[in-house]
Amino acid sequence: MSKIAIIGGGITGVATAYELAKLGEEVVIFEKNYFGSGSTFRCATGIRAQFTDEANIRLMKYSIERWEKLEEELEAEIGFRHSGYLFLATSEEEVEAFKNNIKLQNRFGVPTRLIDMDEAKEIVPPLNTEPFLAGAWNPMDGKANPFKTLFAYLMKAKELGVDAREHTEVVALEREGDEITAVKFRSNGKVETVKVDAVLNAANAWAPLINEMAGLRRDIVPIKAYKHQLVKTEPLERGQAEPLVCPPAWDDAYIIQDGEDGGIICGAGIEHKARSLNDYEPTYDFLRGVLKYAVKIAPPLRYAHIVRQWAGFYAKTPDKNPAIGKLLDNFYIAAGFSGHGFMMAPAVGEAMAEFMTKGRSRVPLDWEWYDPYRFERGELRTSAFQIG
Ligand code: FAD
Repeated sequence: MSKIAIIGGGITGVATAYELAKLGEEVVIFEKNYFGSGSTFRCATGIRAQFTDEANIRLMKYSIERWEKLEEELEAEIGFRHSGYLFLATSEEEVEAFKNNIKLQNRFGVPTRLIDMDEAKEIVPPLNTEPFLAGAWNPMDGKANPFKTLFAYLMKAKELGVDAREHTEVVALEREGDEITAVKFRSNGKVETVKVDAVLNAANAWAPLINEMAGLRRDIVPIKAYKHQLVKTEPLERGQAEPLVCPPAWDDAYIIQDGEDGGIICGAGIEHKARSLNDYEPTYDFLRGVLKYAVKIAPPLRYAHIVRQWAGFYAKTPDKNPAIGKLLDNFYIAAGFSGHGFMMAPAVGEAMAEFMTKGRSRVPLDWEWYDPYRFERGELRTSAFQIG
């Protein structure tokens, strides 16, 4: 048994801590703020296998299979349901692109199909069908509660002996050759050191700072934080917009009914590079922009009250695919998840835990596709459609 340190207490770090503990490892996880306080508790709840490349489709098909069993495994409610994703096409070119994506998804067992607007209206009753030609519908996509999911993982991880340190910031790493030997952390103003056998950088938007602590270039994995915002309406009767509904041609705008209180969450790719890693201030520009799209998608939304607006980070690599793999002999990274880190966590946590302990994994995760050194080699993957 070795001692493994995880830096970052979002869904990626916590899911990996749980999986490592399940394999019998001794794990300590550091979170500088409170667990979930990074991007995880700000996310839009969406989970989908409707990607446009083999690697992400296969990973997410597997992840959804894990999501289905997670409540039973973690013995806690997490609010997962197959509520579907409905992408909407506004032009003939998009319909053709949808057909190609569907063919690829079907090849890997994802049951997406092209639907007409009559069927779309049955699925989303307030939908404005007029601007749209067709929809790509996968009823097996879904959503879950980020708060409940993170705490379910965390509680089980603690039960299995994980040492979970909240309000504890990693401030330095000690390195000998190509190995990290110790982690320095600050808690209650006091700096302490713990000897470790391996380290996982799960700090997402903050990951470049951790890489620098490991003696690597900050941009060895070029992750940049973009401010991504959401607004939410008052609770509405269930069944209005249960799937995530998105016409990609409209700035990636989307609506999805919160699985808990029925409020409609409205998002869009109206985003800016964050001014700093504390730049959480919501903007009026976004509010105006996103609501314009939301009422075009579902006109009755014009009568709903907005009760919340918030911002978080999409931590993005240049190709919007995460960096997952090894950076040094015993220093690993799983970060840069753009709009997909929540949905991928059950698969990524399991894959990472197996990879760190056995050097391989049964999870269908394409290590070459997500290789953190691909940017150094000047390689970019097909850009992953970024929204949640
Ligand atoms: P984070 O949750 O960001 O966790 C990283 C943690 O590291 C932070 O808590 C931070 O405090 C900690 N940390 C940093 N530095 C240190 C240090 N030195 N010491 C200790 N701790 C440190 N994804 C989906 O799958 N579906 C969606 O519908 C979706 N919608 C989204 C909507 C919005 C508005 C946003 C902002 C994101 C959305 N995402 C969505 C993306 C998703 O939230 C993230 O990809 C995911 O939460 C990343 O999880 P993580 O654990 O990798 O990172």
